Amino acid sequence: MKIYEDLPLSTKTTIALGGKAKYFIECETTEEIFQAIDFSRNKNLPFYILSGGSNIVFPDIDLKIVIINIQTKGVSKAENGNDVILECQSGENWDSLVEYCNSEGLAGIECLSGIPGYVGSTPIQNVGAYGQEVKDVIQSVRCIDIEKKELKIFSNEECEFDYRQSRFKGRDKGKYIITSVVLKFSKNKEPEIKYPELSKSIEINPQYNKSTEIKEKLSIIRNTVISIRKQKSMVIDPNVRNTKSCGSFFTNPILEADKFSKFISDNKNLNPPYYKFQQSFKIPAAWLIEKSGFYKGYRYKGVGISNNHTLALVNYEGTSEQLMEFSSKIIDAVEDKFSIKLSPEPEIYQI
Ligand SMILES: Cc1cc2nc3c(=O)[nH]c(=O)nc-3n(C[C@H](O)[C@H](O)[C@H](O)COP(=O)(O)OP(=O)(O)OC[C@H]3O[C@@H](n4cnc5c(N)ncnc54)[C@H](O)[C@@H]3O)c2cc1C
Repeated sequence: MKIYEDLPLSTKTTIALGGKAKYFIECETTEEIFQAIDFSRNKNLPFYILSGGSNIVFPDIDLKIVIINIQTKGVSKAENGNDVILECQSGENWDSLVEYCNSEGLAGIECLSGIPGYVGSTPIQNVGAYGQEVKDVIQSVRCIDIEKKELKIFSNEECEFDYRQSRFKGRDKGKYIITSVVLKFSKNKEPEIKYPELSKSIEINPQYNKSTEIKEKLSIIRNTVISIRKQKSMVIDPNVRNTKSCGSFFTNPILEADKFSKFISDNKNLNPPYYKFQQSFKIPAAWLIEKSGFYKGYRYKGVGISNNHTLALVNYEGTSEQLMEFSSKIIDAVEDKFSIKLSPEPEIYQI
């Protein structure tokens, strides 16, 4: 394993924020992860797991911690009748896995193209985009139980997946290190497009309508998703300032029926958009933010709202402190206007 000292976390996060970590350890095997845990215990320092750094905000100050950076690689494939089972090590790049599945004709994650980060992080917040969620293909998640220092497997059901949520982000936060994710696909499954913005773009693509090949259809969907995401600065590009973010900074709030009715009747004149979600209703956080006085391109000190996506807070040479101040300003404004409290989507490292 490689150990670095005093490494600036701003170089390891997509939002490019964070002070130095006392130790930063790259682990290429599960054994090395166990060794890194021992290292931190011997140094009497807490440790923190970091993968691709695309959903985490570290504070500006230097941290006396050990960062365990997951770099385990490998994808194994098995077939069982019509099922194709892939076991992917946590340090694999997520988008490369999507590309691989598309090239194998395996439908189910093509709409999750262009999401940064590693495979092992995807179950944590049940990543989702354009009508797909990773939970729909996860068969099981393999982990290290940190306290017991032993391996554990969770079935899909046991992961307690929900909208941008799982047991790993909820009641068991910080308890497990995910070492691999097992995904299940069906052979010859036709892609399904559920998201209206995406289906509109695909429907007008003559190549898609002519195509009889699943692989070709998946490749068209992937390219379309990436092109839509690029227009919103949602594909990491070091040359595009608006991509210095954690993606969406807030989740879409979910209101139960009674709170939803009150929200709609209080705001009849604004005609709020909403989506039915299970027995409740999802309100687009971007709409709430815009109606509370913020807009694309809004700047606050060295940070601001992306020019291309209201939900993305961007670091334009600012600090974590400024980012958190700005996020609080938005949360307070939305709460004052709509009595709805927005929740940040990325992990905010607590000192
Ligand atoms: C431009 C951009 C676009 C994005 N678009 C989307 C999107 O469309 N949909 C979506 O859902 N998300 C999106 N995200 C958020 C983010 O990419 C995902 O949440 C991603 O899965 C995070 O992966 P990561 O490897 O970067 O995790 P990190 O940021 O490294 O870690 C995130 C959290 O997970 C924990 N963690 C990481 N790996 C492990 C592990 N192996 N075991 C235990 N804990 C672990 C960390 O401790 C941390 O708390 C976007 C982010 C950006 C920057």
